[in-house]
Amino acid sequence: AKRSGGNSYQYYRGNMRVASVEQLALETSLRKAIFKNEFVIYYQPKMDLGSGRITSVEALVRWQHPTMGLLPPSDFIPLAEESGLISAIGELVMERACRHARQWHQQGLGDICVSVNLSAHQFRKGNVAQIIDRVLDSTGLPAHLLELELTESLIMEDMDQNITLLQELRTRGIELALDDFGTGYSSLSYLKRFPVDTLKIDRSFIMEMDTSPDDAAITRAIIDMAHSLKMRVIAEGVETAAHLEMLREMGCDGIQGFYISKPVPETRLQEILRDQIHK
Ligand code: C2E
Ligand code: CA
Ligand code: CA
Ligand code: CA
Repeated sequence: AKRSGGNSYQYYRGNMRVASVEQLALETSLRKAIFKNEFVIYYQPKMDLGSGRITSVEALVRWQHPTMGLLPPSDFIPLAEESGLISAIGELVMERACRHARQWHQQGLGDICVSVNLSAHQFRKGNVAQIIDRVLDSTGLPAHLLELELTESLIMEDMDQNITLLQELRTRGIELALDDFGTGYSSLSYLKRFPVDTLKIDRSFIMEMDTSPDDAAITRAIIDMAHSLKMRVIAEGVETAAHLEMLREMGCDGIQGFYISKPVPETRLQEILRDQIHK
């Protein structure tokens, strides 16, 4: 029994109901996953182009699902953001990543800085500074070995308040990086105001820089601009030796990408770090 005039609407509603039942099931299992801590962190090395050494790593979360296997962030981060569960997941990731970094330090694997991705939801909750303090305190990791990766849109969401918060985090020695740079909409006059140490050039500019003169020109311009603002620059998505050489010639400070290493489990990262001690 259809209401007159509402046929296509009802049809869509039927589909939407199926989608939301699935979504609810996923959300429920995501809640359980937090409770049981089914998350695993992979680490992707970043290489400093000056020394040729791995001096920092990015923590990238995966979900070890009981039946579906190891799920990439694209399978659950969007829902986690939408439902607000990302804050709890982000806290687990930060806690575990800081604990690992502290262990690498104690095992003599070097002063490796660990980067964690922050989502806007964690900022909106307003207690991000307290959480970071608690994690640094409980893990014993020195503040300068923690880096936060933020996006322009996150900072822009409540710019004045967020800039104040970031300045506060920075005075404690925490490193700040602007992620996916070049994909956002903020103007250069804003960039000058963002209190960040490092710019990460988005991989969309890097992937084709050896065949696209435009992408190469943009990359070079971002590097020069960041340096004139006294920021470090690192390039994401470096997949080939040709990319590396171009970036080195452009004066880029560091690189991250499959050419150096894919994200790897913690045990594998330890081997990589151990290998470079003897070099
Ligand atoms: P992102 O922060 O931009 O992380 C870099 C992504 O690029 C990673 O994907 C990494 O595997 C991939 N990547 C690195 N090098 C290369 C390369 O040379 N070529 C190509 N094609 N890809 C490369 P991943 O691990 O699937 O993570 C995807 C996104 O999920 C991340 O993008 C980040 O936005 C989000 N994410 C991951 N972990 C967390 C987390 O703990 N919290 C939050 N809020 N977001 C996270
Ligand atoms: Ca990132
Ligand atoms: Ca610093
Ligand atoms: Ca990125």
